[in-house]
Amino acid sequence: MSKASSLFRTKKKNIYHLNDEAFFLAMKEDCQFHYRHNAQYKNLLDNLGFKPSSLTAFADLKNILPIPTLYFKHHDLLSLKKKRYLIKATSSGTTGKNVSKVGLTISDVYRGWKMVKNVFSYHRLWSFKFHRYMIFGYQPHRKNKRAIAKTAHGFTFLSPAISKDYVLRRTKDGYQIDLDHFEQKLIAYAKGKIPIRTLGFPAYTYMLLKQMQAKGIKLKLPKGSIITIGGGWKSFYKERVDKEQFYALVYEVLGVDDQHIYEFFGAVEHPILYTDCRYHHFHIPNYARVIIRDAETFKPVKPGEVGLVNLLTPLCKGTPIVSVMTDDLGILHSKRCPCGAPSSYLEILGRSGVEDIKTCAAGAEELLKGR
Ligand SMILES: [Zn+2]
Repeated sequence: MSKASSLFRTKKKNIYHLNDEAFFLAMKEDCQFHYRHNAQYKNLLDNLGFKPSSLTAFADLKNILPIPTLYFKHHDLLSLKKKRYLIKATSSGTTGKNVSKVGLTISDVYRGWKMVKNVFSYHRLWSFKFHRYMIFGYQPHRKNKRAIAKTAHGFTFLSPAISKDYVLRRTKDGYQIDLDHFEQKLIAYAKGKIPIRTLGFPAYTYMLLKQMQAKGIKLKLPKGSIITIGGGWKSFYKERVDKEQFYALVYEVLGVDDQHIYEFFGAVEHPILYTDCRYHHFHIPNYARVIIRDAETFKPVKPGEVGLVNLLTPLCKGTPIVSVMTDDLGILHSKRCPCGAPSSYLEILGRSGVEDIKTCAAGAEELLKGR
């Protein structure tokens, strides 16, 4: 079995107990694989005079070239022949131009599945009970290759679903946002007994809740309901809403407390599932590591200091996403968290100021303009 596959078999109880040696071996194997199979990747490393064989210990992982996420938006960096790919996911840019293409092979998807199964199980999100799913995102369609649409669709299989509603509905004119329809559904479902699970872009969730708050609507969602958000707080950037305010708004309008609010984090270029703990911290799972780098020198900074977020994982043989450099600013906290998970946790502060990048939020704004 490959080193990466055995890393992704980490037992559920150990996902936040980091095994640096196993992680290092899997990373070295992955870096060597792409170096051998991907001429473009090899070129990038050769230009820096870096050889994967020079990796001798965990501390060397910082020397693997972090490829900027922007690079994946302009280059097709696939490592294998087309027929080897099971999934080609794209990021959530709306124009089709500024999107990253990341291909996953069957074994990549299998490793990913092992991770998802364990992470959801650790956070007790699997359930045999019936639920109503309300997705603040795209209705699935075979032509929609956005990773976020696939992820949201996958989420509706965590328990048996009695109904599934999507805020971005597909019509013959493309996707249309329908917040009013969603509001009506929430009011109707709140009268029933079946728990509701919402998932989606924080921007849409926030917009709907503000709309309901303005009308003075106060619901009490059925017991066991949970609110989950994914796609990052960066889409809140303009609104400057902090998490505490968001939790208070959810409690006021939906009657759901913050212990029943979950947040996910991940990216097309780093398909690792981060789920926040009950103290709302994103602990680093054994499948990934995070290096925070100084924005000017790119040198790793100390825990607790702000810098650019560099994400590492050996998940993927299809695309060299071994080490990717995001344009997010973040902090890695090494303080002990009362939830008991021993690994450090990542705080994302938002975009570092690159304005021309299309984000989910920008896409949401465009759609709203068309209302
Ligand atoms: Zn925690």
